[in-house]
Amino acid sequence: MIDVMLLGNGAMVPLPDRYLSATQLRVGSGLHLIDCGEGTQVAMRHHGWGFKRLQSILLTHFHADHVAGLPGLMHTLAHSGKTDRLTIVGPPGTYHIVSGLFVIVGQLPFEIYIQELSDGETTVLDGGVRVTVAEGQHRGPVLAYRFDVDRAPAFLPEEAERLAVPKRMWSALQKGVSVDVDSRLITPDQVLSAPRSGASVGVATDTRPTEAVQGLMRGVDLLISEGTYGDDEDQPKAVERGHMTFREAATLASEAEVGALWLTHFGAGMPDPGKYVANATGVFPRTWLGYSGLQGTITFDRGYAPSDGE
Ligand SMILES: [Zn+2]
Ligand SMILES: [Zn+2]
Repeated sequence: MIDVMLLGNGAMVPLPDRYLSATQLRVGSGLHLIDCGEGTQVAMRHHGWGFKRLQSILLTHFHADHVAGLPGLMHTLAHSGKTDRLTIVGPPGTYHIVSGLFVIVGQLPFEIYIQELSDGETTVLDGGVRVTVAEGQHRGPVLAYRFDVDRAPAFLPEEAERLAVPKRMWSALQKGVSVDVDSRLITPDQVLSAPRSGASVGVATDTRPTEAVQGLMRGVDLLISEGTYGDDEDQPKAVERGHMTFREAATLASEAEVGALWLTHFGAGMPDPGKYVANATGVFPRTWLGYSGLQGTITFDRGYAPSDGE
């Protein structure tokens, strides 16, 4: 299961009623933050998921509206009681950028581990969340992220009974350990189902809707995508600046056959994104306009469901 919360929905500069776009995921007791623009920690405090259990921060790219909040957040983390390591993931150059920002941070009570990822690479975060990235298309290197929480194969009791495995040995097999039954070796794959699809979330911001991004997002339960421009007439600007319109984000969602779409990263020149929502819902009806505090849950059985009802 994955709980998702959008912390902010703004692009470029934070406004009094609009935090910069950042997203947090909660898997088990661990938190993972995607992007950290100025003021992200204020939005985090506002919505109350806490700081101490933050395990990783994933940066899409190095524009200030996505990274300038890191030093301040480190101070808050240092005072939260956090002592286990913090992983910071980002495109090539992350070590350099984070080192520069951390000149003003000082000593921290936890270790920082920096991991740079390139197009197509995969890693597993603390807490077992699998991350895969694709290079996007923006004004500088940018990564789109896909997060997968795998579902364990089902235990098949009828197979265990057919193989005459005593019940006391079932839990070992469920945990992936082979057992010896009267000198017969029984392996877990004999009593477990094929791998089952789990829960997945994709985040694509500050990128054009490229084929690589679409491929990465194929079938995710929830896609969180930028929609910097609502008006179709701004499409040439979106192309020029490496962003998307609402219609383009919805087309991406539709073609990648995702379960639901949250739009975010609204341009500062668009005070009322709601005016343009039909440009997205006309293409992909399961679209939500992002706002600070928008929450949803992705379960293995039901896929994406908004937390506050549709
Ligand atoms: Zn941005
Ligand atoms: Zn950018």
